[in-house]
Amino acid sequence: MKTFLFLLATLCSSLLSSQTINSASLEISINDVINNLPLAAAGDYQNPTIEQAADWRSLIQMIVDEDYDAAAIAANLLEYEFYRFVDNTSSTDQIFYLLVKAPAGNNYWGTYVFKPSACRRLVIQSPHPIADLNTGKQGIYIYMRLDTYAYFLNGTHRCNAHEASDCSGTTSICGSSAAYRLSDVAHNHQSGFQLSNEVLFENFPDLYFAQLHGFSKKETDPYLILSNGSRDTPAEDYVAGIRDGLSQADDSLTFKIGHLDTNWNRLLGFTNTQGRYLNNSVDACTQNATMGSGHFLHLEQEYSKLRADEAAWDKMLFAMEEAFPCITVQQEEVLLEKTYWQMQSGAIHFQLPEFGEYQVTFYNWLGQVIGIQKVSANERVDLENRSGVFVVEGADGFRRVGRFF
Ligand SMILES: [Zn+2]
Repeated sequence: MKTFLFLLATLCSSLLSSQTINSASLEISINDVINNLPLAAAGDYQNPTIEQAADWRSLIQMIVDEDYDAAAIAANLLEYEFYRFVDNTSSTDQIFYLLVKAPAGNNYWGTYVFKPSACRRLVIQSPHPIADLNTGKQGIYIYMRLDTYAYFLNGTHRCNAHEASDCSGTTSICGSSAAYRLSDVAHNHQSGFQLSNEVLFENFPDLYFAQLHGFSKKETDPYLILSNGSRDTPAEDYVAGIRDGLSQADDSLTFKIGHLDTNWNRLLGFTNTQGRYLNNSVDACTQNATMGSGHFLHLEQEYSKLRADEAAWDKMLFAMEEAFPCITVQQEEVLLEKTYWQMQSGAIHFQLPEFGEYQVTFYNWLGQVIGIQKVSANERVDLENRSGVFVVEGADGFRRVGRFF
């Protein structure tokens, strides 16, 4: 009987490649990963090879496409594991997808959590979870409470690798002033962290990426140094939104903001390769961005008021809730139905069943109606640089929801 059960279990696990972890706490699991991250100078981190980098990009694309069985297989080939994770710590179960290094794996490319049903178009990133004390734990703490798309965690201490990154900029964080290490994934354009960031932004140009950092405050420093990775003020200034929310949460906080306090030069993240990429730098490894897209938020935080404990983390959580509205259109619908339209450059091409005219309602990310129009079954609608959610309604109760950008 025992043998039979064992065989059955083996058979099931090989057939059902995308496994589910039920009834557990994702926050505890991620904190366990953080508590066991390889430390500085241990030399575990290596970049993906060219071939592995291509495989890693395909893997992230499978997750974006919700092709979860394929993702589980692809993850195993890269010494990673991919799970459906049902978190039972809140009043209703929450479903996440977790990409994490296999226990015996040697590829320290980070831990990634996805929640396709999330209502916020935001990715929380913790590239320096140990060196910038508590920013990993703060990241998963905020992620679990914010209902947002993804969470990224570096796979080691930023000073873990012996080899230096080719990318421009220097730091004395690992000893004397020197080039960034390969394990400093915020300064390494070939890291798994960077590749994942790129695949998400290629698929979702409406996503925002908030990086949690920490610094040692000098007497003359503010409590927060915020940047979008450039000196530009973007049309939608979410960095300013974060500042406003933080001020509301704690009116003793003080700020410098890279694109508003233009005499300020320290800790603005201009050499951050994710920031450079998101700001359309011609070479994220070596060139600062000349313009800001507004999609990168580089958040440098003092320790005692912002990183010390949960009460401190609640301030950034509140600020993100305020700055990034939760879109109330049902997101499950958005992601499930892709049959009836295609996103083309700056337009949606509808390919609806032929039964007369349809009405399309466009919502922005604040959930406000920004347009209503009639369309035929096969029609191309220009989007004029807007992004958000649309609802198509037709005869016989036909109703489909999609995302546009
Ligand atoms: Zn940092």
